Order: sequence, then C-alpha cells, then structure tokens
Amino acid sequence: MKRVSKRYIKGIAKSTLHLILEISKSSYPNEFSGLLKEKDGVVNEVILIPGTYSSTKGALMDFYNIPIGIRTVGTVHSHPSIIYTPSSVDLALFRKKGSVHIITCYPYDNKSWQSYNSNGEKITIPVIDIEFEYRDDEEW
Ligand code: ZN
Repeated sequence: MKRVSKRYIKGIAKSTLHLILEISKSSYPNEFSGLLKEKDGVVNEVILIPGTYSSTKGALMDFYNIPIGIRTVGTVHSHPSIIYTPSSVDLALFRKKGSVHIITCYPYDNKSWQSYNSNGEKITIPVIDIEFEYRDDEEW
C-alpha cells in the first residue's frame, strides 16, 4: 500500500466541513480531534479516534487506537478559543501525520477554520459542494 500523505488535495467537501464545524461546536468548550480521509483528492471523511482524550486543555489523539491500514491525509481538531493558530504541540503533530491539517475555532461558523500544510503554513483548500455519505440540507 502506497502512502498518500503527499497526495495533492483538491479541496474539502462542503458537507464534511460542515460536519467538522458541527462536531467542534457540540464539543465546545472541549476540543475534539480526528483524522481526515480523502476520495479522489477531496477530503470527504472525518475519523474520530476511539480513546481520544478531550478537555479544555486540548485533545490528545491516541494513535495506537487507529485501525491498522487506514489511509488518512491529515488531521483536524478544534480550539475552544477564537484563535485557530497552531500551538507548538499542533505543529509537531502536523509534521508527523499527513499533509493537510484543519483547525477550527469559536464560534465554529463557515469562517472559523483554517487549513495548514505539514510545515504549519496556512494553505487554502477550496470547499467543494459535493455530496458524499453525509447529508445536511441546512443553508450556510
Ligand atoms: Zn491546537
């Protein structure tokens, strides 16, 4: 199996981004964290890691709980603040785990997120209006 960490990401499905923001909002004031999967270069799935410890001091992913063979392209987590700048812990994680990393922040609306590459530099990933398995008809 080839590693997909360097695969070019064309965008993120709007429904997936919406789901990420909804989970962020419902986790608040705790953080949530997960892993991103893609299909055809589009981020379309969030995997919540079993055993993730979540508190107001941060969400720690337990990578030992990731099913073997799962192919992910990056990480996602929320910040219980209005700042989506990665912390030093976040930057260390970004370098280890994939090529696209999303941080959401309060109030978790459609502007409350930023994506980063593995060096922690801001990148722009287009939001693509495409439906995968998750549906939500709410307008935003
Ligand atoms: Zn963080």
